[in-house]
Amino acid sequence: MSSNSGIQIPSRLPLLLTHEGVLLPGSTMRISVETARNMHLVKNRLLKGTSLKSTIIGVIPNTRDPEHDTEDLPTLHSIGTAGLAVQVVGSNWPKPHYTLLITGLCRFRVAQLLKEGPFPVAEVEQLDKLEQYTSPEEMSEAAGPDGELGELSQRFYQAAVQLVGMLDMSVPVVAKLRRLLDSLPRETLPDVLASMIHTSNKEKLQVLDAVSLEERFKKTLPLLTRQIEGLKLLQKTRKPRLDDDKRVLAVRKGGVLPGRQFSLDEEGDDEDGDDTAVLERKVKGANMPEPALRVCLKELKRLKKMPQSMPEYALTRNYLDLMVELPWSKSTTDCLDIHAARVLLDSDHYAMEKLKRRVLEYLAVRQLKSTLKGPILCFVGPPGVGKTSVGRSIARTLGREFHRIALGGVCDQSDIRGHRRTYVGSMPGRIINGLKTVGVNNPVFLLDEVDKLGKSLQGDPASALLEVLDPEQNHSFTDHYLNVAFDLSQVLFIATANSTATIPPALLDRMEVLQVQGYTQEEKVEIAHRHLIPHQLEQHGLTPQQLQIPQDTTQDIISKYTREAGVRSLERKIGAICRAVAVKVAEGHNVTKSEATPAESAPQGAEHGGRRAEEPDGDMAAPPDMPIVMDHIALKDILGPHVFEMEVSERLTLPGVAVGLAWTPLGGEIMFVEASRMEGEGQLTLTGQLGDVMKESAHLAMSWLRSNAKTYQLTNLVGGSDPLEGTDIHLHFPAGAVTKDGPSAGVTMVTVLASLFSGRLVRSDVAMTGEITLRGLVLPVGGIKDKVLAAHRAGVKRVIIPKRNEKDLEEIPANVRKELDFVTASNLDEVLNAAFDGGFPGMSNPLTLPHIVSKL
Ligand code: ADP
Repeated sequence: MSSNSGIQIPSRLPLLLTHEGVLLPGSTMRISVETARNMHLVKNRLLKGTSLKSTIIGVIPNTRDPEHDTEDLPTLHSIGTAGLAVQVVGSNWPKPHYTLLITGLCRFRVAQLLKEGPFPVAEVEQLDKLEQYTSPEEMSEAAGPDGELGELSQRFYQAAVQLVGMLDMSVPVVAKLRRLLDSLPRETLPDVLASMIHTSNKEKLQVLDAVSLEERFKKTLPLLTRQIEGLKLLQKTRKPRLDDDKRVLAVRKGGVLPGRQFSLDEEGDDEDGDDTAVLERKVKGANMPEPALRVCLKELKRLKKMPQSMPEYALTRNYLDLMVELPWSKSTTDCLDIHAARVLLDSDHYAMEKLKRRVLEYLAVRQLKSTLKGPILCFVGPPGVGKTSVGRSIARTLGREFHRIALGGVCDQSDIRGHRRTYVGSMPGRIINGLKTVGVNNPVFLLDEVDKLGKSLQGDPASALLEVLDPEQNHSFTDHYLNVAFDLSQVLFIATANSTATIPPALLDRMEVLQVQGYTQEEKVEIAHRHLIPHQLEQHGLTPQQLQIPQDTTQDIISKYTREAGVRSLERKIGAICRAVAVKVAEGHNVTKSEATPAESAPQGAEHGGRRAEEPDGDMAAPPDMPIVMDHIALKDILGPHVFEMEVSERLTLPGVAVGLAWTPLGGEIMFVEASRMEGEGQLTLTGQLGDVMKESAHLAMSWLRSNAKTYQLTNLVGGSDPLEGTDIHLHFPAGAVTKDGPSAGVTMVTVLASLFSGRLVRSDVAMTGEITLRGLVLPVGGIKDKVLAAHRAGVKRVIIPKRNEKDLEEIPANVRKELDFVTASNLDEVLNAAFDGGFPGMSNPLTLPHIVSKL
């Protein structure tokens, strides 16, 4: 039966030779690809092709023994099945191979082999007609069930119905199969059923070779009957199910009645129709805008005509399911009460006053003008300072749904905008997926880590995000998968980032940046006691009656086990304590020696233990529930030895070491800068992964000291007045694995070198930051608050900052300010004078005393 209408397969097909069975039209098969020939085909054809046609290949059963399959092409079996590669999966283990999922379309005959390598390609003749989606009515007309063929096909159909009827109809696949029997054209049934029932490859090959329809029915019918007999035997052991019998009866009756197909077709149609009718109702009820509705109705119409075995059926079905699920016009009502919002923000978060104030302003403006477009808030700060959790609170105050979209590492724009539906495995982007998840069109979307967006050949996700965020464009955001516009203008977007430096500029331009700084030690203690501990207790099923953590212990956890700007690892440590205590509580050991409160003496605890061991039942309930109190010893038991202990003063016992302050996206940090000198030829060596700016600062510092060596009485190793003469200098910034850059270490380098050349120790309680010029001026730098907090955490007492940064001190919490001496310096004289005990000898003007803004 040659093709004359319907779909045509390409006349040239690449051929895939497989040992793994016989692919028949209408069935789907997994084929493992390992031979070089087939690997070439997959790589050069399937993975490179762009059109649908390039995913159609010819599958030919390879009858030659796999062991003897050599380089040269075996004699080809003359008939094969053209198949659509629905999925290609590659793997390197245990050896490189691909797995293909292939759906058979129709038979073909190899007319002429066009080329053999690297993979065979042949001119082919299509043998089966490949139907365009015809409705069952059209099909039954086309089949024209007259004569012998008609009778054969009818007998086959009945046998198929009988077979399916013997299976368990409550299994969805079986029910679907039953519907398929009616909706598929009769001539496709032998292939479909032959691939479903138990048959040997030899039998399948015979079915494949049966090009004439009549022969095919004849070949398959005995196989079907055999399978029915097998099932009957199986059923003998069980009680025959009444409804199954009825079904067979109904079919029998149908077989006698002349108009039977119609009645059966109608029944099938009904079931199938039900399914699509439900979908149609849903489409109409989804309240979507006109253009979307039009697309849906069109797709629905296509769907109704498609046989369910088509791979495209599932694609279209998934698409429609998504379309009806999207919240086109479903939204929550904002219930904004500024007063309540303030209370809620305060109760959720301790400190962060500036941020909370700005968030409230933002919410207030929204309340007054609900159609407010932008700005998009972007919280920038170190990890664990509560950016995400403020976003969640905003959603709560507005009574909106909250959804977080993690953007870290996203480097493909289709992650944002979806894949076109022509691709196998295509899906919508994260925005549309998020909307589907929350089910309303006005959620709060938290775009987490916008500074970690990547870029790749698959397009720039930042530009896709721009379209999402731009209020001028986002009312008609078009996801590639949906292919119709979705209005995002009701969504409230909030972004978070660790640093603005890596946010794409165009994106940064659309956002209002709110800096969230790290917390001081005291703030952390408060946050721990107000929020983290109660939260962790609850998470671990503990109550305050079971575990008490005194403030001292929290202080210890913060200073000895964590060193961070936020509170994330603090929360983890508290979690670890809760877990350890939960074990104790569960075991019933409520009090152990080290955890005894001062009120309870150790022997008492031991006695409890002793008695418990003797009479477990009686005593378990008896002792009153004493909370386990986390003291220092118990803390060490659980968290192990202190992680951070080194005192700043211990490091500063030699000349040539000073403490600088650095800013990183993770918060402020102290940094020990070291210098040493040895005999040499005036070389300056720098280590510790420094950026260009930092290297330049080192040269500046060196030059300034050389030009002022006389004034400061600096000497070299041999006693001359050029510090570099006969001397090599090595400057090192520890933590060499981390790249460092920026000008703010300038003053530290000058101090380190001055200490080295003068042989004097830098004060052990000083840390500093500031950019320098060749003439010895000190210029302002950024990140003062984070740096000062880091210095405070490390136990530093005096901080030297540039004079022009004095205004930044206002941001620093009063209690930290109280405990620190701030020296604001406008030139290097002042820096050196403040960094060394008793000032620096030989200052150009001993009267220029540094300006100490002590204890503000
Ligand atoms: P980020 O998004 O900034 O990395 P998260 O919002 O995930 O940080 O915060 C980490 C944890 O710390 C959360 O459990 C959060 O509730 C808590 N947290 C952070 N800051 C505060 C604060 N000021 N008050 C209360 N809890 C806080």
